[in-house]
Amino acid sequence: MSQVDSTQTAELTQLSLKALQRGIQSSQFSVMEVTAAYLERIARFDAGLKSYITVTEEQARAQAEVIDNQIRAGELKGALAGIPYALKDLFCTDGILTSCASKMLANFVAPYDAHVTSKLKDAGGVLLGKNNMDEFAMGSSNENSAFAPVQNPWNTDYVPGGSSGGGAAAVAARLAPMVLGTDTGGSIRQPASFCGVTGIKPTYGRVSRFGMIAFASSLDQCGPMAVSAEDCAITLNEIAGFDERDSTSAQVDVPDYTANLNDSIDGLKIGLPQEFFAEGLDQQVAAVIERAVKAFEARGAVIKEVTLPNSHLAVPVYYVVAPAECSSNLSRFDGVRFGHRCDNPQDLNDLYERSRWEGFGDEVKRRIMMGTYALSSGYYDAYYLKAQQVRRLIKQDFVDVFNDVDVIMGPSAPTTAFKLGELVDDQLAMYLADIYTIPTSLAGLPGMSFPIGFADNGLPVGMQLIGNYFEEARMLNIAHQYQQQTDWHLQTPAAFA
Ligand code: GLN
Repeated sequence: MSQVDSTQTAELTQLSLKALQRGIQSSQFSVMEVTAAYLERIARFDAGLKSYITVTEEQARAQAEVIDNQIRAGELKGALAGIPYALKDLFCTDGILTSCASKMLANFVAPYDAHVTSKLKDAGGVLLGKNNMDEFAMGSSNENSAFAPVQNPWNTDYVPGGSSGGGAAAVAARLAPMVLGTDTGGSIRQPASFCGVTGIKPTYGRVSRFGMIAFASSLDQCGPMAVSAEDCAITLNEIAGFDERDSTSAQVDVPDYTANLNDSIDGLKIGLPQEFFAEGLDQQVAAVIERAVKAFEARGAVIKEVTLPNSHLAVPVYYVVAPAECSSNLSRFDGVRFGHRCDNPQDLNDLYERSRWEGFGDEVKRRIMMGTYALSSGYYDAYYLKAQQVRRLIKQDFVDVFNDVDVIMGPSAPTTAFKLGELVDDQLAMYLADIYTIPTSLAGLPGMSFPIGFADNGLPVGMQLIGNYFEEARMLNIAHQYQQQTDWHLQTPAAFA
């Protein structure tokens, strides 16, 4: 293997996924060199950021060598041949730790691959490791990881957002060119916004959840985060599609998400929901959003104010539905079949109680208790059933709006990243970090976030784009058009240049 010097490391890790593909296919550099470049940066920078829980260095180098040999033999296979990537630590990876950032699964090595893991493997990707996250994907700041909080590469005193904060921070610091995260109420879009990267949560059911450790099954969805919309499109091509192992997987044809990236946005009808620009939105975030909206207008888009009258109910509805489903999903972690088991249990109840008490962190316990309460007999109708009814109204608001506009735009989050520790004692404020992303999740619609500038504090601001069902290609096209004209997405935090 050729020695990689640090200039080349920096250069290789600045390349887009597309450029990496091209360079590898034309033998400009080898997969080994690219992989080594990323591993070297992870070794140099991640002690500070903690964006990875596991780095699969040996496997990555071995896999890179195999792919290099295939390329040399003229058997280049797969659209992502030789492209390094990382996975949120809740996607099962055969033979590699899948911890969900929880003590409960601190020793869990899955015996099989998640659907998306095997898809990226088949496409020739090189797994760099598993990203840090909020425990069981519950959180908005990554401070709920049982291992360590992740830091925001733009300013390490700040959170990267959550729950896919490890992956977002890794892309921002160029410790991976692409990662997969999950979004239940905003966990791809909000960290993408806080870290200045591009991320898309596809339509519910677009990507199989098989082998993805469940939080709230009617909301969970997997999606990519990368530097650009184009890189997300390349990745989505590989992971989207029907899978019979997930009963909620959609039987809808998968388009080529890269085919329409260059379509014109002239005449595009953009809806701005008045509720997303009301009280609670930071003034600077609002100003950056306004500037980006004007840029779309200048390119021929038609802006229309719209209303989502039930959106103020989304956060309360979510905090009934998500905990209820989590209490049911997490009941399998009982110290018997999976994960942590307490020492010397006195009897079966003691085994359950202490294993769960010791294995789960505070936020997970809080959610399990809220959810169990909401589902208990006598309360089910008042809470879970009522929440599902209101959820239906929230969805209908979007259906009505999409009769008039092609896409919806607004902030991904009400503020830029907040300081580490700032909201840990204020759960309500933490929950409100997802106020603009949760309505989309409840409706099952696709949403994405892409960087559109910075606030005075030097932290990135993300624009949220909400599309109609299965209109990911249109959304990626819109973000790509913006990224052809601007370079916000290409900026890197000074400390990680
Ligand atoms: N922050 C939200 C929560 O804590 C969303 C999490 C997610 O999307 N996984 O539930």
